[in-house]
Amino acid sequence: MDHRLLDILVCPICKGPLEHDRDAHELICRRDRLAFPIRDGIPVMLEDEARPLPE
Ligand SMILES: [Zn+2]
Repeated sequence: MDHRLLDILVCPICKGPLEHDRDAHELICRRDRLAFPIRDGIPVMLEDEARPLPE
């Protein structure tokens, strides 16, 4: 995945930085405890598609 693309991606909810989980193919927002999926190399930055993270 393009690192420059990841650099400009922020959480659509809190506009905070995202962590890339390469193994899970997810972008993680620690503030909102949400994981946004990356499907076929394309981040899906939709709150409805995000997975809530356990505590
Ligand atoms: Zn967030």
